[in-house]
Amino acid sequence: MEGFKQSVLNIGTLGHIDHGKTSLVRALTNVWTDRHSESLKRNMTIKLGYADTIIRKCEKCNGPEAYTTGDKCGECGGEAKPVMRISILDAPGHETLMATAIAGANIINAILFVIAANEPCPMQQTREHLMVINLLGVKDTIIIQSKVDIVGKEAALAHYKQIKDFIKGSVIENAPIIPVMTNQGINVDVLLEMITKLPVPKHDPNADPFMYIARSFDVNKPGARIGSLKGGVIGGTLVRGMLKRGDEIEIRPGMKSSAHKREVYKPIITKVDAISNGTEELVEAGPGGLIGLSTEMDPSITKADGLVGNVVGRRGKLPEVVSSMGMTYNTLNRKDIPERSFADNEPVILSVGTLTVVGYVVQAKKNVLKLELRHPICAEKGIKIAVMRSVAQRWRLTGYGIMA
Ligand code: ZN
Repeated sequence: MEGFKQSVLNIGTLGHIDHGKTSLVRALTNVWTDRHSESLKRNMTIKLGYADTIIRKCEKCNGPEAYTTGDKCGECGGEAKPVMRISILDAPGHETLMATAIAGANIINAILFVIAANEPCPMQQTREHLMVINLLGVKDTIIIQSKVDIVGKEAALAHYKQIKDFIKGSVIENAPIIPVMTNQGINVDVLLEMITKLPVPKHDPNADPFMYIARSFDVNKPGARIGSLKGGVIGGTLVRGMLKRGDEIEIRPGMKSSAHKREVYKPIITKVDAISNGTEELVEAGPGGLIGLSTEMDPSITKADGLVGNVVGRRGKLPEVVSSMGMTYNTLNRKDIPERSFADNEPVILSVGTLTVVGYVVQAKKNVLKLELRHPICAEKGIKIAVMRSVAQRWRLTGYGIMA
């Protein structure tokens, strides 16, 4: 890996609405462009929001005060040297946030779980987020007790005990709980230090690469001359393996072939011309954060997120593309959603990696479902799929499935 050009940790953020998740992310990254507003417009499409930050440390100072995301030490004003690059992932709204966390299970390495001290713990969404954390088994979770400045010391201590009781018996029962006041910047440095101590996942550089496409664009200006046209760009996250400049790649399901009445997709074979972390060029890339690949594809294929939901790998090394699938379904037992069995041909919305697809339940035997999909998918057996059902005319995340 080249220096600090790629994140070593993808950190998901969870927390009840208005508990201060967004301001925490802003405090950690300094920049937080609201990438979500656009994705909200695109109905059910889930788009991960990524914000990268480099955590730095002053070599002259000791303790948490030495940690910063700025170039200069906040304590002595000296130079702060880079320690770790991280990507923070966020998603808009409660339902999509949980669906994204489940569908991105193999992307997320650690979680920041925000719980505000000015409300009793757990609030309903907090409870559901713990359920998701348990389900994903992300032990490397740091609990941020926010808004402690509003309630005062005694109430904050009582609230701390509520959190301890709440997480007892869960996968994160020993997670650190730290009060952070993002507005005054209090304890942000402590949190940064804690993040640098999180274990960094080891990746096998020789594994067959597998990447989820989260964005795709046409970078050419309208009216660009044919000769100067740049190939299509795809952005996403590698979950394993490495990609290098010059590599031949395959994209599945690929392009819809219009020659057929029934939807048939044709895999795309292309070449990686350049790799970027968003601001700098990379010679090669592995798992961690969002990367962009400039390819030799016709940019009309990649424009306007045309390839979102596809996966990338080496030629001939990707799973089969399927239009029907089996799945074991597990309910999240949400308090506000009555349990009911699946109706014949009941439509469900599935989030598989970065893909959102409509499926119809054609068979349900206990928790073993057979689904017909409206569009074909390319996914690996055993992955976790977020399942949304229509409840009182709204799409609600009711459970998750494991692809059979
Ligand atoms: Zn210093």
